[in-house]
Amino acid sequence: MKTTRSQQLFAEASRYIPGGVNSPVRACRGVGCDPLFIASGQGSHITTVDGDTLIDYVLSWGPLLLGHAHPEVTKAVTAAAAKGTSYGAPCPDEVLLAREVVEAFPGMDMVRMVNSGTEAAMSALRLARAVTGRNKVLKFIGCYHGHADSFLASAGSGVATLSIPGTPGVPEATVRDTLLAPYNDLGAVRDLFDLHGKDLAAVIVEPVAANMGLVLPEEGFLKGLRALCDSAGTLLIIDEVITGFRAEYGGAQTRFGVTPDLTVLGKIIGGGLPVGAYGGKAEYMERIAPAGDVYQAGTLSGNPLAMAAGLATLRVLKQCDYAALEKRVDAFATELETVLRARGLPVRVNRLASMFTVFFTDGPLRNFDEVKSADSALYARYFAEMRKNGIFLAPSPFETGMVSFMHSEEDFAATIKAASRCELG
Ligand SMILES: *Cc1c(COP(=O)(O)O)cnc(C)c1O
Repeated sequence: MKTTRSQQLFAEASRYIPGGVNSPVRACRGVGCDPLFIASGQGSHITTVDGDTLIDYVLSWGPLLLGHAHPEVTKAVTAAAAKGTSYGAPCPDEVLLAREVVEAFPGMDMVRMVNSGTEAAMSALRLARAVTGRNKVLKFIGCYHGHADSFLASAGSGVATLSIPGTPGVPEATVRDTLLAPYNDLGAVRDLFDLHGKDLAAVIVEPVAANMGLVLPEEGFLKGLRALCDSAGTLLIIDEVITGFRAEYGGAQTRFGVTPDLTVLGKIIGGGLPVGAYGGKAEYMERIAPAGDVYQAGTLSGNPLAMAAGLATLRVLKQCDYAALEKRVDAFATELETVLRARGLPVRVNRLASMFTVFFTDGPLRNFDEVKSADSALYARYFAEMRKNGIFLAPSPFETGMVSFMHSEEDFAATIKAASRCELG
């Protein structure tokens, strides 16, 4: 078989970049494939260096709710670039984006921009530790909060895909300060509070778990966390890096009626450029330097290109009909489930807003253990077959499918058709 341009590039990349990629899941090892190298993206589609065009349900792992190369975003970034790419001094768009974000979250008075979700989660935890004078953090098995040391124990996303149990290089003492509970298991959380409540600086949670595939919070789970945190003087950190401006305009916290002490953001607020942010009540945020004594900084934080992209994205999103998209995605997910089930496969398609995950199982999907019981070999075949048929899905059973406002009914129909025909035997 002829070597494709993607294969050539991957071989070359593997000489200079560990594993040939700059972020692990992209290597597609979880599904036993080689990665496709992308030449361009437009709306709901990506085009590879070999000239194949695919319908994209990865969307850069979430940021592109407006699809690739949205004209408003492109215009804003181009205009900003022409005025210089970085100043290392404040610029007007930082203020506008901060105000837009703060106004979208009822419990947020102030926000600090950083360069990634990892940085945002790491900084929010540092702040929670400073505020409480405690060290421990409780996270949920299969949730992902970036790759800072404290969050790598039993994490989702690439950590789950590669079955990395812990990670070499993380100090034992750091691991000891991270407590783990199954998602949706309030009883387990209560037990940990009984034992460690007075040492617990923070509970961090994805309001909708989207890094073990899509797993929804059960009724009362998030509110239960809020109550336990209140009773122990522990800060609740809601990680909305994926759900922020995707679950609705604002976050999943509004949708589920739970106000955290700190919110972590990323992905969509950068409109495809590297941005993260953390925010919350003024009494906490004013502890951040130079207002307060908790140090956190960034050479490129509040970068003018990134702020322009984020701001343009939010301005367009504010006019978008989230409810209509959710309805369309729900119908699409239902049809996908029907088509796959008609082929005699055990399947459930979880969905919320513009997110969905195909799980090859009949069982319940409340936590990472249950997710892992789904058929991952079947997912790998499904991924490979769908890709051959022009559909680009997340290259791992532990990721969430993303839909943009640019996905058309034709895109959905083509996806359903591919799912009904692809060889899964
Ligand atoms: C992607 C993600 C992060 C990490 O963001 P990066 O920009 O990749 O560092 C953190 N939390 C959640 C929920 C995420 O999905």
